[in-house]
Amino acid sequence: MYLLPTLPFSYDSLEPFIDKETMEIHHTKHHQAYINNLNTALEQFPDLHGKKIEELLADVNAVPSEIRQIVVNNGGGHANHNLFWEILAPKAPKTPGGKLEEAIVSTFADFESFKAKFSDAALKRFGSGWAWLVRSKDGELEIYSTPNQDSPIMEGKKPILALDVWEHAYYLKYQNKRADYIEAFWNIINWDKVRERYLED
Ligand code: MN
Repeated sequence: MYLLPTLPFSYDSLEPFIDKETMEIHHTKHHQAYINNLNTALEQFPDLHGKKIEELLADVNAVPSEIRQIVVNNGGGHANHNLFWEILAPKAPKTPGGKLEEAIVSTFADFESFKAKFSDAALKRFGSGWAWLVRSKDGELEIYSTPNQDSPIMEGKKPILALDVWEHAYYLKYQNKRADYIEAFWNIINWDKVRERYLED
Protein backbone atom coordinates (compact mmCIF):
# COMPACT_ATOMS: atom_id res chain seq x y z
CA MET A 1 0.00 0.00 0.00
CA TYR A 2 1.50 3.27 -1.12
CA LEU A 3 1.06 6.42 0.97
CA LEU A 4 1.15 10.12 0.26
CA PRO A 5 4.50 11.50 1.45
CA THR A 6 4.56 14.53 3.72
CA LEU A 7 5.97 17.58 1.98
CA PRO A 8 9.25 18.86 3.43
CA PHE A 9 7.88 22.44 3.27
CA SER A 10 4.54 24.22 3.73
CA TYR A 11 2.14 24.75 0.83
CA ASP A 12 2.71 28.51 0.83
CA SER A 13 6.50 28.41 1.09
CA LEU A 14 7.14 28.33 -2.67
CA GLU A 15 5.24 31.60 -3.17
CA PRO A 16 5.32 33.61 -5.35
CA PHE A 17 6.73 31.04 -7.79
CA ILE A 18 4.14 28.34 -7.11
CA ASP A 19 1.05 29.43 -5.23
CA LYS A 20 -0.33 27.81 -2.09
CA GLU A 21 -3.62 26.67 -3.60
CA THR A 22 -1.91 24.93 -6.52
CA MET A 23 0.48 23.14 -4.17
CA GLU A 24 -2.28 21.99 -1.86
CA ILE A 25 -4.52 20.66 -4.65
CA HIS A 26 -1.57 19.14 -6.49
CA HIS A 27 -0.40 17.25 -3.41
CA THR A 28 -3.66 16.27 -1.67
CA LYS A 29 -5.83 15.68 -4.75
CA HIS A 30 -3.73 14.88 -7.81
CA HIS A 31 -0.90 12.96 -6.17
CA GLN A 32 -3.33 11.23 -3.82
CA ALA A 33 -5.48 10.13 -6.77
CA TYR A 34 -2.51 8.41 -8.45
CA ILE A 35 -1.79 6.59 -5.19
CA ASN A 36 -5.42 5.52 -4.72
CA ASN A 37 -5.65 4.19 -8.28
CA LEU A 38 -2.35 2.35 -7.90
CA ASN A 39 -3.36 0.75 -4.58
CA THR A 40 -6.72 -0.34 -6.00
CA ALA A 41 -5.08 -1.92 -9.05
CA LEU A 42 -2.58 -3.83 -6.91
CA GLU A 43 -5.15 -5.16 -4.42
CA GLN A 44 -5.55 -8.47 -6.24
CA PHE A 45 -1.79 -8.96 -6.78
CA PRO A 46 -0.25 -9.62 -3.34
CA ASP A 47 3.04 -10.71 -4.93
CA LEU A 48 3.63 -7.10 -5.89
CA HIS A 49 2.87 -5.67 -2.45
CA GLY A 50 5.82 -4.25 -0.58
CA LYS A 51 7.81 -3.44 -3.70
CA LYS A 52 9.15 0.06 -4.08
CA ILE A 53 7.40 1.93 -6.83
CA GLU A 54 10.75 2.37 -8.59
CA GLU A 55 11.15 -1.44 -8.67
CA LEU A 56 7.77 -1.89 -10.34
CA LEU A 57 8.56 0.75 -12.96
CA ALA A 58 12.08 -0.52 -13.66
CA ASP A 59 10.65 -3.93 -14.61
CA VAL A 60 7.20 -2.92 -15.73
CA ASN A 61 6.96 -5.82 -18.19
CA ALA A 62 6.89 -8.12 -15.16
CA VAL A 63 3.67 -6.44 -14.01
CA PRO A 64 0.57 -8.43 -15.07
CA SER A 65 -0.68 -7.15 -18.39
CA GLU A 66 -4.17 -6.38 -17.10
CA ILE A 67 -2.84 -3.72 -14.72
CA ARG A 68 0.38 -2.72 -16.52
CA GLN A 69 -0.91 0.51 -18.02
CA ILE A 70 -2.51 1.48 -14.70
CA VAL A 71 0.90 1.01 -13.06
CA VAL A 72 2.61 3.02 -15.83
CA ASN A 73 0.13 5.88 -15.41
CA ASN A 74 -0.50 5.89 -11.68
CA GLY A 75 2.72 4.29 -10.43
CA GLY A 76 4.54 6.71 -12.70
CA GLY A 77 2.40 9.51 -11.29
CA HIS A 78 3.32 8.47 -7.76
CA ALA A 79 7.08 8.18 -8.43
CA ASN A 80 7.22 11.37 -10.47
CA HIS A 81 5.47 13.44 -7.81
CA ASN A 82 7.59 11.96 -5.01
CA LEU A 83 10.61 13.20 -6.92
CA PHE A 84 9.09 16.56 -7.80
CA TRP A 85 8.38 17.42 -4.14
CA GLU A 86 11.92 16.36 -3.21
CA ILE A 87 13.64 18.58 -5.71
CA LEU A 88 11.66 21.71 -4.83
CA ALA A 89 12.68 24.04 -2.03
CA PRO A 90 12.03 27.57 -0.85
CA LYS A 91 15.05 29.91 -0.70
CA ALA A 92 17.00 27.66 -3.01
CA PRO A 93 20.51 28.30 -4.36
CA LYS A 94 20.55 29.32 -8.04
CA THR A 95 23.13 26.83 -9.27
CA PRO A 96 23.88 23.14 -8.60
CA GLY A 97 27.47 23.39 -7.38
CA GLY A 98 29.96 20.57 -6.95
CA LYS A 99 30.40 17.61 -9.28
CA LEU A 100 26.91 18.00 -10.72
CA GLU A 101 27.66 21.52 -11.88
CA GLU A 102 30.91 20.31 -13.41
CA ALA A 103 29.03 17.54 -15.25
CA ILE A 104 26.35 19.97 -16.46
CA VAL A 105 28.95 22.38 -17.79
CA SER A 106 30.93 19.63 -19.50
CA THR A 107 27.77 18.14 -21.08
CA PHE A 108 25.83 21.27 -22.05
CA ALA A 109 28.67 23.85 -22.47
CA ASP A 110 27.52 26.11 -19.62
CA PHE A 111 24.76 26.46 -17.07
CA GLU A 112 22.74 28.92 -19.16
CA SER A 113 22.72 26.52 -22.12
CA PHE A 114 21.60 23.73 -19.82
CA LYS A 115 18.77 25.92 -18.50
CA ALA A 116 17.72 26.84 -22.01
CA LYS A 117 17.70 23.23 -23.18
CA PHE A 118 15.72 21.98 -20.17
CA SER A 119 13.24 24.86 -20.44
CA ASP A 120 12.79 24.16 -24.13
CA ALA A 121 12.02 20.49 -23.43
CA ALA A 122 9.44 21.57 -20.84
CA LEU A 123 7.89 24.18 -23.11
CA LYS A 124 7.66 21.95 -26.18
CA ARG A 125 6.16 18.92 -24.47
CA PHE A 126 2.79 18.85 -26.23
CA GLY A 127 -0.10 18.31 -23.84
CA SER A 128 0.64 16.81 -20.45
CA GLY A 129 3.98 15.45 -19.35
CA TRP A 130 7.31 16.07 -17.69
CA ALA A 131 10.72 17.52 -18.48
CA TRP A 132 13.70 15.60 -17.14
CA LEU A 133 17.37 15.76 -16.39
CA VAL A 134 18.41 12.13 -16.08
CA ARG A 135 21.54 10.13 -15.54
CA SER A 136 21.74 7.40 -18.15
CA LYS A 137 23.05 3.87 -17.54
CA ASP A 138 26.53 4.94 -18.62
CA GLY A 139 26.47 7.95 -16.30
CA GLU A 140 25.78 10.62 -18.93
CA LEU A 141 23.42 13.52 -18.32
CA GLU A 142 20.47 13.83 -20.71
CA ILE A 143 17.58 16.25 -21.07
CA TYR A 144 14.29 15.20 -22.60
CA SER A 145 10.57 15.08 -21.92
CA THR A 146 7.97 12.34 -21.62
CA PRO A 147 4.19 12.37 -22.16
CA ASN A 148 1.60 11.67 -19.46
CA GLN A 149 3.23 10.13 -16.35
CA ASP A 150 5.79 8.03 -18.23
CA SER A 151 8.84 7.67 -16.00
CA PRO A 152 12.47 7.59 -17.20
CA ILE A 153 12.90 4.70 -14.76
CA MET A 154 11.07 2.49 -17.29
CA GLU A 155 13.94 3.18 -19.72
CA GLY A 156 16.63 2.38 -17.16
CA LYS A 157 17.44 6.05 -16.55
CA LYS A 158 17.70 7.76 -13.19
CA PRO A 159 15.70 10.99 -13.05
CA ILE A 160 17.52 13.61 -10.99
CA LEU A 161 15.58 16.78 -11.87
CA ALA A 162 11.92 16.89 -12.88
CA LEU A 163 9.41 19.51 -13.93
CA ASP A 164 5.71 18.71 -14.05
CA VAL A 165 4.16 20.50 -17.04
CA TRP A 166 0.65 19.15 -16.65
CA GLU A 167 -1.74 22.11 -16.52
CA HIS A 168 -2.76 21.08 -12.98
CA ALA A 169 0.77 22.08 -11.90
CA TYR A 170 0.45 25.72 -12.94
CA TYR A 171 -2.92 26.72 -14.40
CA LEU A 172 -4.42 28.53 -11.37
CA LYS A 173 -1.58 31.05 -11.31
CA TYR A 174 -0.15 30.98 -14.82
CA GLN A 175 -3.14 29.97 -16.99
CA ASN A 176 -1.84 29.44 -20.55
CA LYS A 177 1.60 30.94 -19.79
CA ARG A 178 3.61 27.75 -19.32
CA ALA A 179 6.82 29.61 -20.17
CA ASP A 180 6.41 31.86 -17.12
CA TYR A 181 5.90 28.84 -14.87
CA ILE A 182 9.05 27.24 -16.29
CA GLU A 183 11.02 30.44 -15.69
CA ALA A 184 9.75 30.58 -12.09
CA PHE A 185 10.84 26.96 -11.50
CA TRP A 186 14.52 27.96 -11.61
CA ASN A 187 14.05 29.88 -8.34
CA ILE A 188 12.85 26.91 -6.30
CA ILE A 189 15.11 23.97 -7.19
CA ASN A 190 16.61 22.06 -4.29
CA TRP A 191 20.02 21.66 -5.90
CA ASP A 192 21.42 19.92 -2.81
CA LYS A 193 18.92 17.10 -3.38
CA VAL A 194 19.47 17.02 -7.15
CA ARG A 195 23.24 16.80 -6.61
CA GLU A 196 22.76 14.03 -4.05
CA ARG A 197 20.64 12.07 -6.56
CA TYR A 198 23.28 12.54 -9.24
CA LEU A 199 26.02 11.19 -6.97
CA GLU A 200 24.16 8.23 -5.42
CA ASP A 201 23.67 4.82 -7.11
MN1 MN B 1 1.30 16.75 -11.23
